[in-house]
Amino acid sequence: MVSESHDLGHCSRCGGRLVPFEDEPVHGRCPACGAMEFRNPIPVAGVLIVRGGRVLLTRRSIMPREGLWAFPGGFVERGETVEQAALRETLEEVGLEARLTGIVGMPYSIPDAGQVVVAFQGEADGEAEARSEVSEVGWFAPEEIPWGEIAFDTTTSALQALVDEGLDGVSAHPHERRFIREPAPIELPRNCRRCGGALRESEAHEEGHGVCHECSSPHYENPVVGASLLVVRDGRVLLGRRGKESRPGFGMWAGPAGYGEIGEAIEETARRELLEETGLRGEIGGLISVYSGTGHVEVAYHGEAGGEVTPTSEFPELRWFAASDLPWGEMFDSCPVSVEQLVERGIVHD
Ligand SMILES: [Zn+2]
Ligand SMILES: [Zn+2]
Repeated sequence: MVSESHDLGHCSRCGGRLVPFEDEPVHGRCPACGAMEFRNPIPVAGVLIVRGGRVLLTRRSIMPREGLWAFPGGFVERGETVEQAALRETLEEVGLEARLTGIVGMPYSIPDAGQVVVAFQGEADGEAEARSEVSEVGWFAPEEIPWGEIAFDTTTSALQALVDEGLDGVSAHPHERRFIREPAPIELPRNCRRCGGALRESEAHEEGHGVCHECSSPHYENPVVGASLLVVRDGRVLLGRRGKESRPGFGMWAGPAGYGEIGEAIEETARRELLEETGLRGEIGGLISVYSGTGHVEVAYHGEAGGEVTPTSEFPELRWFAASDLPWGEMFDSCPVSVEQLVERGIVHD
């Protein structure tokens, strides 16, 4: 919950002071220009590079957790896909051009920090070397991993999943069909969110990172993270026809989906959106994929739910589709890509 004293700061478009958005007070609305300022979790991407039964780890030379072990990775930047971010960070930190072969485990959330970590499995040729933000690199067999000196809980979770899946095994989630489209640029801020002062062009540079010359506060423009949950029952997938005429994809079929909230794990986002949009209480069954879209990254799950569906303003019509009667030409956004994978895996059938 948001405390009374929570300061939403200033509008990045006009500098006006933000007020809490009526329906969801964690987000801000600018009374002066009408803009919304969303506060959502942001994506982090990294690569576990595997070679000859060993995984490449990096010893951090920066705060936080300086001196502890992690794997190459960092925030997904404005205009990048998760894959591009993972590969860029690997090149910057260890000098390797990696190839991604799959996703390790599931995406891992740091709810209070508003971060969701996507850990890819990858391969690379050549010598790894300690470069940016790294003091040392090392290749570790499972029994050599320094579990007591790992930087973050998410690092431990991803490493544990890698060991469980087998270091030279095929990833549970092969890397394919991960884009729904090229990410479109996120609008750059014109005003400082903290003091409202106008930013100079150099302070709001291309990657979306800058520092306000008036109050010295940094600002970042990253894609946000959302989740979708396709519920399957007796081989049929639940899709809804999108209501709300003013929204993209009106009248098309899609699964329940929405942006994450700060303080919420990404699986909770998926279950919350399912409940809000269909009235069902569901459980996550597995990962379908991770997609990079326009200004956001979507974690797509499949799952199960009991009970009766309830039409909502989001989905005035809800239907269960078997494999042979799917509305292929009328599915919105990532929906056809996800559903196709569920059919290929035999989760959705006739
Ligand atoms: Zn404004
Ligand atoms: Zn400022």
